[in-house]
Amino acid sequence: MSIDFEIPAEAKAIRAKVRQWVQDECKPAEKRLTDGEDYKTVLNELRGKARAQGLWCPFIPKEYGGMGLGPLANALVQMELGESHLGALSMNTQGPDDATMMTLLAHGTDHQKEKYLKPLLNGEKRICYSMTEKAAGADATGMQTRAVKDGNENYVLNGEKWFSSAASVADIALVMAMTDPDAPRHQRYSTFIVELPNPGYRIVRDIETMAVHGPLTEILGGGHSEVEIKDLVVPAEDLLGGEGNGFNMGQHRLAYGRLRHGMHNVSMAQRALDLATAHVVQRETFGKKLSERQGVQWMLADCAAEIYKARLMLLHIAYKAERGDDIRQENSIAKIFLANMVHQVVDTAIQLHGALGFSLDTPLAAWYTHIRSQRLVDGPDEVHRWTVGRNVIKAFEREGTTASACGGDLL
Ligand SMILES: Cc1cc2nc3c(=O)[nH]c(=O)nc-3n(C[C@H](O)[C@H](O)[C@H](O)COP(=O)(O)OP(=O)(O)OC[C@H]3O[C@@H](n4cnc5c(N)ncnc54)[C@H](O)[C@@H]3O)c2cc1C
Repeated sequence: MSIDFEIPAEAKAIRAKVRQWVQDECKPAEKRLTDGEDYKTVLNELRGKARAQGLWCPFIPKEYGGMGLGPLANALVQMELGESHLGALSMNTQGPDDATMMTLLAHGTDHQKEKYLKPLLNGEKRICYSMTEKAAGADATGMQTRAVKDGNENYVLNGEKWFSSAASVADIALVMAMTDPDAPRHQRYSTFIVELPNPGYRIVRDIETMAVHGPLTEILGGGHSEVEIKDLVVPAEDLLGGEGNGFNMGQHRLAYGRLRHGMHNVSMAQRALDLATAHVVQRETFGKKLSERQGVQWMLADCAAEIYKARLMLLHIAYKAERGDDIRQENSIAKIFLANMVHQVVDTAIQLHGALGFSLDTPLAAWYTHIRSQRLVDGPDEVHRWTVGRNVIKAFEREGTTASACGGDLL
């Protein structure tokens, strides 16, 4: 009996619909923006149309106004959306908002869901996530920002945050702070919902980065802020998920965010390979089309193999998630692989475009500078490799083989 790779008809249909949506609506809208049309007008129009077609908040349950897609259908949808920078935004499933909505959905009280989640799900507000500090990133248990209870009504927060993505366009922030320095390391932190703007949460600057910035970068949520937290008063009812649970909630949130980045990378890599192929079939050097050179064909073949591995990896993870299996090892492996995969494919596409690839006349150069961050965010490569490697050793010690740590249940 063979493994069934047939995608269920319903999931196939939704993927086809989203694919068409991205090709027919999002990609042309990108051009409207570069031609100077107002961003809000273009996005609102897109969102109105998407919602009217039922394309909205893919993994959010239907009773909350989303599409209620399970892991497989959501993965297929996200793998289409990354082809346009307006794809995820048009369906209100952009990072960092989407993973943060998931946290509010899983841990919010009824009051918090009504007040904060509802406008996010309606696309009326944006949310950011403030965990990383200059003091601590990969090892988030080193965060220094403190939250001290002031009577029964409020907490008062003091400290700093940096690289809070989209903070300068957000209406709400989830802020992590230490509530109990004497608790075990992973139980010291709590998460607070903060309405913005707020005098206690001051955006010091949007940090200049290596990523190519266009006039829309900040508006689209591509900015990353340094934040001063000074005497920030948060009502006790805006503590999310109870004291001491901030770290675990954060890890749950990041686990989805990591995969979503990876899913978008697949379609970005696919578009990069499409652009490269379209270029080599028409460009001639030394009396021949580039596409006729075996060396060039090998470069395309290597990209095709990377994209194929990426799709299979994500589909296998989606399959395991559908069954409720533990996917932590696969999640870390995929996080590393997909960040490096997209880098390699976009780099090859730039190489094949020559100077044109280095210019900003194609989207490749901007993508290249943006995706470099993916080897750092949501846990740097080395931290995931550390975890994956430890699991390899544990599997060997437990079972006499490392297979179960290498997608072994495929065997
Ligand atoms: C574009 C971008 C967007 C971001 N968005 C957000 C956001 O919205 N909210 C938020 O809270 N944070 C955000 N971050 C922060 C991000 O999560 C951190 O940068 C990341 O966790 C790494 O932390 P760090 O930068 O402090 O690096 P450090 O913790 O100082 O680590 C530096 C390097 O040391 C190495 N290293 C670390 N630990 C180990 C180890 N155990 N073994 C081997 N090597 C190791 C790795 O190579 C790592 O890159 C963002 C960052 C970027 C670049």
